[in-house]
Amino acid sequence: MDFTLSGESKMMVKAARDLAKQEIEQIEAKIEEEDAIPDDIWQKFAKARMLGMMIPKEYGGIGSSALNVILILEELAKTGSAVAFLMALNNSVVETIYHWGSEDLRKRFIPPLCDGSLWPAMAFTEPGTGSDPTAITTSAKPDGDHYVLNGTKRFISYGHKKGYGVFYAKDETEKVTAFVVDKSSEGYTWSKPWSLMGLAGQGLVDIFLKDVKVPKENILGEKGKGFHILLRWIAGERVQQMAFMVGMGQECLNESLRFAKERIVRGRPMTDMQGFQWMLAEMHASIEASRWWTYRVASKQDEGDDIAVDSAALKLFVVPTIQEVARKALQIHGSYGYCKDYKIEKLYRTIASPGVTAGSTEIQKTLVGSALARSKEI
Ligand SMILES: Cc1cc2nc3c(=O)[nH]c(=O)nc-3n(C[C@H](O)[C@H](O)[C@H](O)COP(=O)(O)OP(=O)(O)OC[C@H]3O[C@@H](n4cnc5c(N)ncnc54)[C@H](O)[C@@H]3O)c2cc1C
Repeated sequence: MDFTLSGESKMMVKAARDLAKQEIEQIEAKIEEEDAIPDDIWQKFAKARMLGMMIPKEYGGIGSSALNVILILEELAKTGSAVAFLMALNNSVVETIYHWGSEDLRKRFIPPLCDGSLWPAMAFTEPGTGSDPTAITTSAKPDGDHYVLNGTKRFISYGHKKGYGVFYAKDETEKVTAFVVDKSSEGYTWSKPWSLMGLAGQGLVDIFLKDVKVPKENILGEKGKGFHILLRWIAGERVQQMAFMVGMGQECLNESLRFAKERIVRGRPMTDMQGFQWMLAEMHASIEASRWWTYRVASKQDEGDDIAVDSAALKLFVVPTIQEVARKALQIHGSYGYCKDYKIEKLYRTIASPGVTAGSTEIQKTLVGSALARSKEI
């Protein structure tokens, strides 16, 4: 068991830290004000070689590891910006197309997502459900060389931005099939973005599919096996989300330490008081435990293990643990923590989201509990 980061990983962490400081933090106020991420962010990610990272070089990636992706995300997450989620979405969508796609699909769709010219999307959720794949109603009916998609997808990040997305629909056999959809197709329209509690610029829209023609060759993996694709995608997404939580949790601690060292209470810095030292200690221990477990699951992913249950258990632990870190951070800041002038306010709002996105906490409990109940090992 090796707990040291390789030289390559250390370099990537440094590159991500620089990108966060020099590019993301500079535009964050504008993103918050306009609730939109500028298109040129992709060129910055592409230049830093942070798109489609796990994909071989011949398709435009760099052939790196899941662990390196989450190390980068952890750094970017310290900004508390939706820009970090964007990088995660790119990497997971591109990896999904690479893993399940035919050679033709790989060649057509991956390079423009890796060079930063197009925006990715992943569309599962619908007005009727976000948790239950059997309840989706978007239909895909065969028609000659095409499938014709009809339905509404809800809360689709960057669904309105030019590019490609992986869409889940029920085919003529009532089974879930995954399709790569060109977001400029005829019949593809969208709502205005939802206004969110946090994650300014996330660009969450509803997508209306009205007789959208998708070539049959755009089916990912096997017809009727879309649920497997979704489960594998969402397992990787959970680990990325948890790296995001670790980075934000660490920033909560950093901000709290800065604040507590300077804030004078009863004539002394807050850090002199044992009660606050204990809170800081608990925050530190919580973040370290979350961090190393996240690294562990990412390493298992790199070893080719099925991480469906591991990633669900990880999420089950990290979400409430880091949410408690954020609560303590706000408490340490007193009323300043409730003001937008302090970074803690944004982190607190952003940290609220992973418990209800990409599989809620309750769904993780069901996944882990049912796996334990089925297990024959004990
Ligand atoms: C910022 C953000 C970004 C998002 N991006 C995307 C995206 O890009 N693509 C996409 O497809 N979706 C996206 N979503 C949607 C999100 O993933 C779903 O909303 C989420 O999976 C939960 O689905 P739901 O809201 O329909 O809740 P529901 O499925 O209706 O669940 C409601 C409540 O019931 C609980 N529940 C449901 N089923 C069970 C059960 N069997 N047992 C116990 N409890 C249960 C849930 O845990 C939850 O508490 C995004 C959402 C947000 C907020």
